[in-house]
Amino acid sequence: AAELLDADFYAFQTLLAPHEQATAARVREFMEREVRPIADDYWERAECPVHLFKPFARLGTLGSAWAETATTPLSAVARGWVGMETARVDSSFCTFIGVSGGLAMSSIGVGGSPEQRAQWLPPLAAGDLIGAFGLTEPLAGSDTAKGLRTTATRHGDTWVLNGAKRWIGNATFADVVVIWAKDTADDQVKGFLVRKGTPGFTATKIERKQSLRIVQNADIVLEDVEVAEADRLQGIDSFRDVAQVLRITRDGVSWQSLGTAWGAYDAAVRYVTEREQFGRTIGGFQLIQDKMATALANLTASLGICVRVAQLQDEGRQTDAHAALAKSFVTTRMRETVALCREACGGNGITLDTGVARPFADAEAVYTFEGTKDMNQLIVGRAITGQAAFV
Ligand code: FAD
Repeated sequence: AAELLDADFYAFQTLLAPHEQATAARVREFMEREVRPIADDYWERAECPVHLFKPFARLGTLGSAWAETATTPLSAVARGWVGMETARVDSSFCTFIGVSGGLAMSSIGVGGSPEQRAQWLPPLAAGDLIGAFGLTEPLAGSDTAKGLRTTATRHGDTWVLNGAKRWIGNATFADVVVIWAKDTADDQVKGFLVRKGTPGFTATKIERKQSLRIVQNADIVLEDVEVAEADRLQGIDSFRDVAQVLRITRDGVSWQSLGTAWGAYDAAVRYVTEREQFGRTIGGFQLIQDKMATALANLTASLGICVRVAQLQDEGRQTDAHAALAKSFVTTRMRETVALCREACGGNGITLDTGVARPFADAEAVYTFEGTKDMNQLIVGRAITGQAAFV
């Protein structure tokens, strides 16, 4: 019965070019074959299937945004669609891939010199290297624009970094971590490519997470970490440039939220069309149908927003407020959708076996990272009123 209705109800996928639709289908097939069978076990054990990074990279989507690596150029809509297909099977896996392919590669793509882009983007796109992105700190979460404490001091051609980072995905095993720090000379944020094994850099896994358990997040300590000037992102002069990176990656999180909700919806449709109570399948009851219709409406509205905001990115017209409105709206609808789907599955919905408990738990982290719902609302509020509520 799950096949009765395509959850892409308004056929948005037809907006993709044929080669983009084929790419999306390849990603879906990879996720179903390689990730779905292992996702619950890895999630329960809070381990990351790092060995799948390279096979995923071979699908050719990671470099599709950058001239140096775009063997298969994809529109922003298609790149978003790929992220959505990934999260639909497992939101943690989507984050694991997205931290490297989105956050780290976008930092280099936006802020790197031509030489830095040529050096780093190809091996990251090919999956030969894995990246991480270190912005958040123990004392600076929503407030990273002003509140960063990590410092960078220049001595000739070498920079010395000191400070701490929190929540940094992939940092325990990444080959390169983009570290954002304040230049002690001008108090502006700069970006540094810190290579694996650099003395003074330590990353400790954050344990006992109950959301996105497959992603390995870390507390980082930087003690007199030396980075060559050649490994400072040459195009980053202030937090304004970091915001440019976040605008792109925030779109990715909107698509991820949509995929997370969609995964829960798929599982719930399956469940309500099989489970029987009062002598009939529960999918025949009006109150269950109301939940599923609301879930489908949420997916459809979210998909419309994701598609349009990606088109604005492709047209070079996207603003911070465009991206913030999408992230805020889609994550809110995701949170409602996973809860409705969980509810429709009754008690069985809280076990991993039914397929909604994992997206239900994962939605909480996705709702919070890359700017909380509140912060994104405030970015939109600033655009509406011309007044910043958070400075
Ligand atoms: P806080 O900033 O302390 O916020 C707490 C609450 O206060 C929130 O509800 C917030 O909305 C509210 N609040 C704060 N300021 C205001 C205000 N002015 N007005 C109204 N309300 C306000 N970061 C990275 O750099 N790299 C990563 O790879 C990364 N991965 C992550 C993965 C996971 C699983 C998680 C949970 C986080 C990750 N983060 C990462 C960090 C993430 O971006 C932050 O958690 C997020 O920005 C919020 O910061 P915070 O947790 O410190 O919350």
